[in-house]
Amino acid sequence: MTRRISILGATGSIGLSTLDLVRRAQPGDFKVVALTANSSAEALADLALEFRPEIVALADPANVKTLSQKLAGNGIEIVTGEDGVIEAAARPADFCMAAIVGAAGLAPTLKAVEQGAHLGLANKECLVCAGDLFTDAVAKSGAVLLPVDSEHNAIFQVLETKQPEAVRRIILTASGGPFRSKTAQQLKSVTREDALNHPVWSMGAKISIDSSTLFNKGLELIEASYLFARPSSQIDIIIHPQSVVHSMVEYIDGSVLAQLGSPDMRTPIAYAMAWPERMEAPVERLDFAKTAKLEFEAPDEVRFPALRLARTALETGGHAPNIMNAANEIAVQAFLDGEIPYLGIAATVEAVLEAAGAAQTLSQRPSSVANVIETDAMARRLARGIIEA
Ligand code: NAD
Ligand code: MG
Repeated sequence: MTRRISILGATGSIGLSTLDLVRRAQPGDFKVVALTANSSAEALADLALEFRPEIVALADPANVKTLSQKLAGNGIEIVTGEDGVIEAAARPADFCMAAIVGAAGLAPTLKAVEQGAHLGLANKECLVCAGDLFTDAVAKSGAVLLPVDSEHNAIFQVLETKQPEAVRRIILTASGGPFRSKTAQQLKSVTREDALNHPVWSMGAKISIDSSTLFNKGLELIEASYLFARPSSQIDIIIHPQSVVHSMVEYIDGSVLAQLGSPDMRTPIAYAMAWPERMEAPVERLDFAKTAKLEFEAPDEVRFPALRLARTALETGGHAPNIMNAANEIAVQAFLDGEIPYLGIAATVEAVLEAAGAAQTLSQRPSSVANVIETDAMARRLARGIIEA
């Protein structure tokens, strides 16, 4: 049976990997319904001409002319702005890939959740920001949430849900990023290019920077806590530079179950797209005789304060993860724009969390999605203020 699929963030790293799988599937396995992008009109138009969706959405209306010129006469509906992206997300589909980067993905992803279909969740920030409000919306709509983040996908695959008390802990693996072996002194002079150059994974700019600071692992700690309903005390992080063991679950009888595979996002994407079945993915197969070594080491929270900040935010609860995420998004952009040095990223996030703590907004429970979005905007203003000072 043909599965209708929509992709939010189609022009990004995850979006393109998803479309690569559609391209290689049997004709008739998938029908692309909706594609969205932020501002890459050319790239979106090319994808639309290849995959023939019913609707395309461009969040930034500035380049819409390019899109409409390239798609003229093809009968593909074009919408723009944030509302346009939400409209595309509302198109009935059997599977939606949520692959927008950052909190900007929250409203469109929630709209897709309302459809009650299968949702592949790559956009971890929207879960970090909205927490229980997001998982409650999933429960209410009856949507099936399929984690695409490789670690969470691994946990999803090996987590026994029939006896929750039999799980002792979740062990999230982290590659450690490009600066795993750098000293605190060396981290001071890290450049944008160094930070964008991940040793194992090829990804979008924002998550590449987050992988280098370990904010990505911090966001994933929070993501895991909400996805699998586990407190901070039951989630450990371990550095595993080869990124072959994608994460593990330890049970009370001492068994540890892991999911392994080549570091290629097309495996977790294919898992989510085909669930509850499996489909072929063109990834390099593991050759254990050649995989010389699998190494593990404890993370260093002194050189990588993101881990400490994220754990504290998770344990504080309320708006803290949302505020941390917003501050990090602004700080990462400021670093990419050359406004702050590398170590300024974590310093900015910490300063925003301190300021919000003093204003007592940190631990308040978000009352609604609108309240989450307001608090996100407040944290962005605080972060900009701190950077400009
Ligand atoms: P990317 O930067 O390559 O792509 C982001 C996509 O979102 C693009 O299509 C872009 O046009 C769109 N977008 C950006 N801002 C937008 C906005 N304001 N409104 C609407 N659309 C917008 O990012 P990516 O690496 O594909 O990551 C996407 C998400 O998946 C992130 O949340 C990331 O953390 C997560 N993720 C990525 C990987 C990976 O390997 N790339 C792995 C795990 C999780
Ligand atoms: Mg991940």
